[in-house]
Amino acid sequence: MKAVVTGGAGFIGSHLCDHLVARGDQVTVLDDLSTGSLANLSYARRAPGFRFVEGDILDRQLVDSLVREADAVFHLAAAVGVYNIVDNPLRSLRTNLHGTENVVEAAVAYGVPYMVASTSEVYGKNDADGLHENADRVYGPATKSRWSYAAAKGLDELVAYVHGLESGVPCVITRFFNVVGPRQTGRYGMVVPRFVDQALSGEPITVYGTGTQRRCFGSVFDVVPALLRLMDTPEAYNQAVNLGGHEEVSIKGLADRVVELTGSRSPISFIDYEEAYGEGYEDMQRRYPDTSLAARLIGYRPERDLNDIIRSIVEHRDAADPLPQPV
Ligand code: UDP
Repeated sequence: MKAVVTGGAGFIGSHLCDHLVARGDQVTVLDDLSTGSLANLSYARRAPGFRFVEGDILDRQLVDSLVREADAVFHLAAAVGVYNIVDNPLRSLRTNLHGTENVVEAAVAYGVPYMVASTSEVYGKNDADGLHENADRVYGPATKSRWSYAAAKGLDELVAYVHGLESGVPCVITRFFNVVGPRQTGRYGMVVPRFVDQALSGEPITVYGTGTQRRCFGSVFDVVPALLRLMDTPEAYNQAVNLGGHEEVSIKGLADRVVELTGSRSPISFIDYEEAYGEGYEDMQRRYPDTSLAARLIGYRPERDLNDIIRSIVEHRDAADPLPQPV
């Protein structure tokens, strides 16, 4: 099969490429290397038929020319990371809105099945005990920068869904809940790689707010194989599917766990949100996934707990350190 992976040099995209080449697919990556890196593709790039194209998903002609040759498109390119969204609001909005429109419209025009990566951010401040796919979206005011990402991703889903519905071209929407693992960078805000880097370098661990906010981290090693299975499952077409982990932890609890597992002497330092992200930032207090739909569709059952996740990040922190390859 010929697969196009947008954002294939990024964290989740590069793990997906590893799986695709391991099963013998010919993979073309489209990535502008804004937050991803070629180092992430050091395994996939060795495969026959692998092609890397440096470019922007806003380049409609380029997107068209790659998608028309493909048998499947995995759309993971996006502006990601809280710092990135807050620092570059217009650029992020354009990439996440029009970039997705370009990819989906090309996929539909050429009849190519497509997957669009979305996020648990679409649920906003809904802190229900187990967010199922039909849970309400609860957003703060449009003037607060964080919500522009949630709003854009929500529209991406609609673009994917309505096109899929009207054209009959297979479409899967995946909502990632705090997916973490090796290759994720802390540069743009993601908390787990930041805490691991801080712990290993002996710097203070920066907990924002009170640290009582809770998250449920999912392993990239559990989530990525699910993407391939969902694309092969007709019952999943035109659905949004939650993917993530099962172990919930407070951010202060995460800091303690990272310190314990790394044997670090780093102190924990509490920092105001304003100092961390600038004025007007709003955080979510809780976000816990209901993954029963994925379980029903493809037997999804996350196997890695938080300790496994932290250990795998510590173990493969050096980019030159090869990851275990998918079989
Ligand atoms: N966070 C933190 N310290 C950091 C980076 C993030 O305490 O150095 C917090 C952040 O405010 C949020 C949680 O960790 O409450 C998860 O942040 P991340 O950006 O990884 O994911 P998201 O907010 O999208 O769930």
